Amino acid sequence: MTQPLIDPFQRAITYLRVSVTDRCDFRCVYCMSENMTFLPKKDLLSLEELDRLCSSFVRLGVQKLRITGGEPLVRKGIMTFFDAMSRHLASGALKELTLTTNGSQLDRFAKDLVSAGVKRVNVSLDTLDDKKFADITRWGRLPQVLKGIDAAQAAGLRVKINAVALKGFNDNELFSIQEWCAERDMDLTWIEVMPMGDIGNEDRLDQYWSLKDLRASLAERFTLTDLAERSGGPARYVRVEETGQKIGFITPLSHNFCESCNRVRITCTGEIFTCLGQEGHSDLRAPLRSSQDEMVLEDAIRAAIGLKPKGHDFDYSRQDVAGRVSRHMSHTGG
Ligand code: SAM
Ligand code: SF4
Repeated sequence: MTQPLIDPFQRAITYLRVSVTDRCDFRCVYCMSENMTFLPKKDLLSLEELDRLCSSFVRLGVQKLRITGGEPLVRKGIMTFFDAMSRHLASGALKELTLTTNGSQLDRFAKDLVSAGVKRVNVSLDTLDDKKFADITRWGRLPQVLKGIDAAQAAGLRVKINAVALKGFNDNELFSIQEWCAERDMDLTWIEVMPMGDIGNEDRLDQYWSLKDLRASLAERFTLTDLAERSGGPARYVRVEETGQKIGFITPLSHNFCESCNRVRITCTGEIFTCLGQEGHSDLRAPLRSSQDEMVLEDAIRAAIGLKPKGHDFDYSRQDVAGRVSRHMSHTGG
């Protein structure tokens, strides 16, 4: 019997997030600078290598696989990879195959995703205003994303909206975004902006809208009940009693969730990051490319998990961005 992946703090690793590309058709201001330099193609894991790596993790007990990026749906041939992963759903080893997307390509791929066994998608959307959407994403257009969301729902995918809370940007859309999600029967999660990567001229402290403040604003109009539900990750949920809606808050900065962390991340170059908020990582591409022997890869994975830190150190409290991480979110996958 294969031993499951247990880290030094006795946390079982059952959730793998894989960034399949660092490229994107948007340039969201909190995520990328306008002039990003992307990795040379040869550094990226091929779709076959991604398959081998993810399959190893599944064999070692990973039950949930989230595909992210960059924008996962702009990677050429990505549906081949989703189709390949569906065999692990069919065998029962994998319980969930899902993705986080900006929605721009969903119109094209929603049906194929359903065919591959995907049941839910997270779509990132920070505003419902055309002009603001174009500003925040620099290159994106809202109608295209809305069309993608329509296609996803029509294909039977459950959609969750992820919105980054940005002071002076979408604080005045708190209720309208929530209402829109309720009308369309979509869950909603607010994310606190994190200090990741050089993004050019934007100032993190200017953008930071604490979810404590966001929640307080919501509570002025609605009755919020905390839900016990946890995902092993940074999300906390409340129920809005008046509408029955569930709202999530991802607060990596003002809350500590590390004690129950069940996840690791793989970049598109095959680095494994065992903590989103730490620089520490190990290379899995070299063992992957050096040998076809699954034990070589498995040993490298186990060694990396053995280095998973207890937690992270993001902190904005001293008016300086402490615990800052130099890589971009699109590198590790959000
Ligand atoms: N391109 C896809 C998308 O936008 O959903 C997947 C990758 S994106 C890096 C994943 C998530 O990270 C998105 O919801 C995005 O809003 C979020 N994100 C990016 N940079 C962030 C930052 N600095 N702080 C908080 N969330 C961030
Ligand atoms: Fe692209 Fe997603 Fe980053 Fe926006 S948040 S630039 S959509 S990777």
